[in-house]
Amino acid sequence: MLEDLIRAWDGEEVVVRFDEPTGSWIFVCIHSTARGPAGGGTRMKTYAEPSDALADAMRLASAMTLKMAAVDMPFGGAKAVLAVPELVDGDRRRGLLLRYADLVASLRGTFHTGPDVNTTVADMDVIGERCPYVFCRSEEHGGSGNPGPYTARGVFHGIRASVRHVFGTDSLEGRVVLVQGLGSVGGPLAEELVTAGAQVLASDLVPGRAESLGAEVVPAEEVIGTECDVYAPCALGGTLNAETVPRLRCRIVAGSANNQLAEPADAERLRDVGILYAPDFVINAGGVLNSLGAEHLRWTREQIEVRLAGIGATLWEIYSRANAEGITTEEAAERLARSRLA
Ligand code: NAD
Repeated sequence: MLEDLIRAWDGEEVVVRFDEPTGSWIFVCIHSTARGPAGGGTRMKTYAEPSDALADAMRLASAMTLKMAAVDMPFGGAKAVLAVPELVDGDRRRGLLLRYADLVASLRGTFHTGPDVNTTVADMDVIGERCPYVFCRSEEHGGSGNPGPYTARGVFHGIRASVRHVFGTDSLEGRVVLVQGLGSVGGPLAEELVTAGAQVLASDLVPGRAESLGAEVVPAEEVIGTECDVYAPCALGGTLNAETVPRLRCRIVAGSANNQLAEPADAERLRDVGILYAPDFVINAGGVLNSLGAEHLRWTREQIEVRLAGIGATLWEIYSRANAEGITTEEAAERLARSRLA
């Protein structure tokens, strides 16, 4: 029930709108503005029930608060969901986005949004026609464009820090890295890894995507049991669970996918089998560092590169803390973020 979810949530504000022309529920969940205006993507998706959409937005919003704090950005966390009865395009999509833009504008900057699952840079351009609180518009419209390559660069630095922690050197020469999902993050990540001398194994559901990289192709159903040094999940969340963790044949899990752990206990499961886990909300923060850094904080390219490399340093600190305190890397990352929210 919506009322129960809202009553139980530890966030600051939930804005609900029903978009009559498309039959969509709109939920904007502002989890925290303690560190600054709340930032988070807008996801467009179909859900069985409106309460499933609200629960998703709430969970994603609180993860954004942790992400912003973990990488020390002066922003809070939020997320919006456009729960559509079916994915819309053309004029219906444009109409929905413009009405949504008016809603975001009415919040007067408490919430800044960007792309997420099923929304694009072009959609941000449409929202930007009526609302200034939007990032990742196209460069022609004054934005920073697709965040994928910057997220990839942050993951690359995170993989190097993880490799150094486990193997004592951050050289990727000859290291076997399995990239699952070769989309806007996994594609550029795989290219950077190849350039750094890694042996890349690649997997994607779309035929030809893995092959086009010239990497060794792993069928989607064989990813979990494939031997490698680093497994980089860059497709869907939830790939680390009670059933998959015992079958993993890697030393490190470090990739961009959101919500990689199906449940909190999976962090313990990974630790118990000796696999180093790079907490997803830290390693995948490169996109927000670039877009909010460039658009709001006016960082130069050099400053952004320093912050992207800083993802590796932050993970190193998290790993050291996890070792010293005998806790999982996930718990260490949450403690770091919460110390900055206090
Ligand atoms: P994308 O949609 O561009 O790419 C995802 C790719 O994964 C697609 O090529 C798809 O075919 C493939 N895929 C889907 N299921 C698969 C499976 N079972 N096995 C192998 N391949 C599969 O998405 P993206 O923008 O690259 O994002 C990837 C992940 O990283 C998502 O979980 C996203 O939430 C997360 N993330 C992305 C960004 C960003 O800047 N784009 C930032 C933070 C987190």
